[in-house]
Amino acid sequence: MIFSDKIEFTRQLRNLLSSSKNICIVTHANPDGDAIGSSLGLFLLLKQQYNNVKVVIPDRVPDFLKWMQGSEEVIVAYDNKEQMEIVLKEADLVFCLDFNQLNRVNGVEQALTNTEGVRILIDHHPEPDNVFSLGLSVTDSSSTAELVYEVGEQLGLTTTLSKEAASCIYTGIMTDTGSFSYAIGRGRTFAVLAHLLDAGIEKDKIHANVYDSFSEQRMRLMGLCLKDKMVIIPHLRTAYISLTAAEMKAYNHKIGDTEGFVNLPLSIEGVVFSVFFAERDGVIKMSLRSRGNFAANTFAKKHYNGGGHRNAAGGKTLLPLADAIQQFEQIVKEYEADLVNA
Ligand code: 5GP
Ligand code: MN
Repeated sequence: MIFSDKIEFTRQLRNLLSSSKNICIVTHANPDGDAIGSSLGLFLLLKQQYNNVKVVIPDRVPDFLKWMQGSEEVIVAYDNKEQMEIVLKEADLVFCLDFNQLNRVNGVEQALTNTEGVRILIDHHPEPDNVFSLGLSVTDSSSTAELVYEVGEQLGLTTTLSKEAASCIYTGIMTDTGSFSYAIGRGRTFAVLAHLLDAGIEKDKIHANVYDSFSEQRMRLMGLCLKDKMVIIPHLRTAYISLTAAEMKAYNHKIGDTEGFVNLPLSIEGVVFSVFFAERDGVIKMSLRSRGNFAANTFAKKHYNGGGHRNAAGGKTLLPLADAIQQFEQIVKEYEADLVNA
């Protein structure tokens, strides 16, 4: 059963926790600050009371999040498939954080489908798949990290909140809200942030760790995007940026390096829809961002087998990059009225 009410959810979760020995936390591929922050936040909270808690992620923790406590204990399926499979096989409870479709965990999908552990969802994306036995799904929550805090609070795990757990949760909220500039629809987010500050987090240091720790190469790749690769379609209030695998390689691209690039064109007056195409392992991964009423998630779902939030979504296509762009330029024309009125 999926709840939007944390109290009902936690009541059932408490029962499950009391009869569980092995707990596993899983988050989505290409993990962002909320994926890692919510997972490690929950990990650190649960470890206060439960012995056997493990975190499994499909691919590596990006460098800008490696400072978080617990990141060195994460089991990365990309590097250690065997251990990932053992952990999921032995788990009684499997928390699924910051995703709600099993196809978001490339490489872990099979093990997560086959596990005999109870799959528990904590997430803020719309329309969860019907594969979770119990879930907390709150689409107006800023982030999964905020929900982790609230669940932890209900479970009595935040009374002695450590600075380290608070820092993870803070990072999830900060990164999913563009440093508190969007996706905060309820005052409670700031109440949670107040508790996190009181736990002694160093918020300026966290911000610098996440946003001021990029390589020179990453900045120059961003420069290339802005100078040569950004295409603007003014009458559709749309912009896009694309990068080939070769371009990323030339700039020594590392996971997480293109994080945030999709947002750049939205700083241009009038642009309400921005798409970033990245060629990776023969697939074109797309990030979509929008302003106002224009539903990036509906667009991603309909045309790119993806989804996400209204203003921040993702998807993919198997077309070659040039064809994908050509196709996108055709598709986006159909949305002229929505884009003009967004
Ligand atoms: P990003 O562009 O940062 O990768 O993702 C933006 C948002 O869209 C995130 O909330 C993410 O979970 C969601 N998202 C990204 N890629 C996909 C996808 O392939 N499928 C679905 N359903 N959601 C995605
Ligand atoms: Mn999130």
